[in-house]
Amino acid sequence: MGWFDRLKKGIRTSTSAKMEAPDGIWVKCKKCKALLTKDELEKNLYVCPKCDYHLPVGSKEYEKILFTGDVEELFNDLESYDFLEFTDLKSYADRLTKAREKTGLKDAITVYAGRVHKMPLVAAIMDFRFIGGSMGSVVGEKIARAIDYCIEYNVPLLIISKSGGARMMESAFSLMQMAKTAAKLSQLARARIPYLSYMTDPTTGGVSASYAMLGDINMAEPGALIGFAGPRVIKDTIKKELPEGFQSAEYLMEHGFLDMIVHRSEMRKTIRDLLLYFANPGFTKNENGNGSAKGALSAKNGKLHASEKNGNGKNSTLSKSVNARQR
Ligand SMILES: [Zn+2]
Repeated sequence: MGWFDRLKKGIRTSTSAKMEAPDGIWVKCKKCKALLTKDELEKNLYVCPKCDYHLPVGSKEYEKILFTGDVEELFNDLESYDFLEFTDLKSYADRLTKAREKTGLKDAITVYAGRVHKMPLVAAIMDFRFIGGSMGSVVGEKIARAIDYCIEYNVPLLIISKSGGARMMESAFSLMQMAKTAAKLSQLARARIPYLSYMTDPTTGGVSASYAMLGDINMAEPGALIGFAGPRVIKDTIKKELPEGFQSAEYLMEHGFLDMIVHRSEMRKTIRDLLLYFANPGFTKNENGNGSAKGALSAKNGKLHASEKNGNGKNSTLSKSVNARQR
């Protein structure tokens, strides 16, 4: 028998009388389960102050974290439509409508032109909430137009990736975006304009297999999942246990696929430093030069030559100066 017996049955407290915090004030950290307030999280750029887990954020949040001052959205008249009349569990047309209502976005990527501490930059930022950040023909076209814009105005490009891969509802048209974006990036390289790639959690499938991994500098957020096929698919295919931390940003960094891992709180500063550096590649000859550009170089720890894998020769000055410094 318990200490207290309920004498009357059916006692209920009405929902309106319950003393609870209003919905949406608290957010639970997925990793350490700490309860955090939304304000606290926003101030900390949506990074858990207890365990440093980078909570997923949308394109609008990255725009605010990255740019200083006014930004202009480019090519926002482009919208996907269901040209194949594709239906899986739902029709693609329905998925598009729902995604637009849910996110207020036109598609899974938004292109912004603005400045990072006076340095001009065009940033194409993906949003996972829009059909898993999938790459359809509009995503590819927006990247292509962003590259044309960068060439016309001689402005560096940054792409922040967050994607499950190609948008299967657009079938082969989504796969074609891999070749299209890669070809456009080689035009950008020929124009000797830097392209920085920042991969966030997750960057997978056709996105990792095209523009995300083609940066002159490939960066990632701590702990981000980056890979082509997911770990479960690979495990089932090769019938072997995968190494610990497989496909994490840290694992990729250790195996030479990334140039650096950049904490969200350091993103703006790192990108500013890289933009300064690329704007003045002869800088390393002057040891008494600008300290911030120097910081970018030391953060690279002499690994800038890794970006030569693009084979575009665009970094030759940079690589030579870094190699000279190492010798
Ligand atoms: Zn946490």
